[in-house]
Amino acid sequence: MVCERAGDCTLQELAYFYNIRSNRFAGERRQYTKKDLNPFIERDMEKCILCGKCVRVCDEIQGVTAIDIAGRGFTAKISPSFEKDLDCEFCGQCVSVCPTGALMGKQSICKGRQKDVKEVETVCPYCGCGCNLTLHISRNEVVRVTSKPDTINEGWLCVKGRFGFSFINSPDRLKNPMIRKDGKLVEASWDETFGYITEKLSAIKEKHGADAIGGLASARCTNEENYLFQKFFRAAIGTNNVDHCARY
Ligand code: SF4
Ligand code: SF4
Ligand code: SF4
Repeated sequence: MVCERAGDCTLQELAYFYNIRSNRFAGERRQYTKKDLNPFIERDMEKCILCGKCVRVCDEIQGVTAIDIAGRGFTAKISPSFEKDLDCEFCGQCVSVCPTGALMGKQSICKGRQKDVKEVETVCPYCGCGCNLTLHISRNEVVRVTSKPDTINEGWLCVKGRFGFSFINSPDRLKNPMIRKDGKLVEASWDETFGYITEKLSAIKEKHGADAIGGLASARCTNEENYLFQKFFRAAIGTNNVDHCARY
């Protein structure tokens, strides 16, 4: 009743399709009460069917081998070394291949079931790889990020693309430019900000020359934006002092 993956679970679909009412292991149940305190992935091993997909994707796609099957028979479970809390790259590939609710992103829990979410396709803004993202939106909030297998990144993401979305609805997010006035940052209009930037850059250039100015672009901007940025520094300001945080 409380499984997050209800309606989006291969095991549930197959059990329904084959009209499974009971199983020959009735009475046997894997119990796994330990809570994993890692920041991103909820591991509920009572819902695990030991298909091994998470182990293989972690080893063969991600090359991390953070998890494996530990124990035998009904004590067998997917586990990090020595049953410690998961401590890995948190790419979430294991979450994306898990066919049940055994692996879930912690940020998505109780935020909207599959039938309630709207899917929107977009491109990851974090780096130049430009992975395709599918945003799952519920009540006008991004609650989960996945990626489809037929994309340029074949559905695989890194931790930033898959789990780095809480900034979107953060109350701390800056939505307007800020200018420091009398030692305090205050909100300003874009017109006022552009005027301020022009005035300051012109004054520095006049007093100290164009090479007293330098610009740091961002890997989170598009290629086109970064092109315009360097063009602005070279052609408008007159300096080659332009750099770029190639790795964010
Ligand atoms: S999040 Fe990535 S690195 Fe961590 S266990 Fe899953 S697949 Fe392996
Ligand atoms: S992918 Fe999910 S169901 Fe399969 S072994 Fe891993 S945790 Fe269990
Ligand atoms: S930050 Fe990660 S998910 Fe985003 S485009 Fe780069 S590699 Fe892909």
